[in-house]
Amino acid sequence: MGYVLDGEGLDGLVRELARDYLVFAPVRKVGAGRFTDVDQVIYDFVDDASQIELDAKSDYSFKELLTPLSQTLFYYTEDQVREAGGIGSAGDPAREGDTRDVLVLMRACDLHGVKRLDAMYLHNGPEDSFYRRIRDRVHFVLLGCPQTFEHCFCVDMGSNVAPDNWEFSLERSGEGYACAVENESLLPLFERYATASRDVVPAHVTQNDVHVRVPKTVPLELRTSPVWDEYNHRCIGCGRCTLVCPTCTCFTMQDVAYTENGRVGERRRVQASCMIDGYSTVAGGASYRKQHGERMRFKVLHKVYDFRQRFGYDMCVGCGRCDDVCPEYISFAACVNKLSDAVDEWDAQHEGSVARDA
Ligand code: SF4
Ligand code: SF4
Repeated sequence: MGYVLDGEGLDGLVRELARDYLVFAPVRKVGAGRFTDVDQVIYDFVDDASQIELDAKSDYSFKELLTPLSQTLFYYTEDQVREAGGIGSAGDPAREGDTRDVLVLMRACDLHGVKRLDAMYLHNGPEDSFYRRIRDRVHFVLLGCPQTFEHCFCVDMGSNVAPDNWEFSLERSGEGYACAVENESLLPLFERYATASRDVVPAHVTQNDVHVRVPKTVPLELRTSPVWDEYNHRCIGCGRCTLVCPTCTCFTMQDVAYTENGRVGERRRVQASCMIDGYSTVAGGASYRKQHGERMRFKVLHKVYDFRQRFGYDMCVGCGRCDDVCPEYISFAACVNKLSDAVDEWDAQHEGSVARDA
């Protein structure tokens, strides 16, 4: 069912939704960007429509709600363990104990990102109960995308059209807003604040400026390709590309001791990144991927090859945030295209002679 509404209608709608739900949406933080006078768009809880950033791509994704930067899993004493709970343990201590479900506003690519997070935390062996507990309370609102943003390549990754796991859509339309409502239990709310309209279809992008050619398969021999070598010099291993990525899921564990003997404290899991120092360090101080080029290879192949071998679709959803944020202007999209060229070259040289690792 479609609806159109004006600014006043949207205000009323969001205020009423925020009474029943925690509403998590992209918010513009004025002056909080990397440089002077540059804004940053990040996710935050809102209770007013004016706080929602509808027009820009968010610099960071929604994922800190489901996989917080730092999440307390449990508290321990010498003879007791108590699990942490609530959305509060998922990134916002002020909301510890708040039992309302959460409505998250996000674009089509990020909705596909949720599918990737679910795959890793729920369908990759035993379910992760901490993720499950938050995930069961989270529902989605689709933000329509009337045009592409810089660095996006969602069309080539097949994530430009949203999967159908959203409650309603929202986007600007003329002087007002348009919503398509999928969850029928929300219809009375829309009847109060909006006017029914037959022609509302959430906008999606059909053309990006950036194009990516994902290789169907990658020969094992290309682990030592010169493609990776340039990143030994260019990449500084800051990990920003992975922290903004809606599909990166890696974490590390930290025990925070409250007492000198270490027997009372809490255990946290903290987001980690394959691009930074220490991630692949093992006992004895050795490291699997010391060179930044090796880390780039690991990340890129996970996004557009390994994950597909396991789940049948690529991990990367083409949001372009990694390219937006890299301080060294390294383009993930360009790297994937260089990899495809290297695969083509390898194919031409070895045509018919060597069986691929499938
Ligand atoms: S790898 Fe880059 S483009 Fe792909 S989903 Fe992650 S941040 Fe977005
Ligand atoms: S953001 Fe750029 S420099 Fe930083 S780790 Fe990623 S690719 Fe390397």
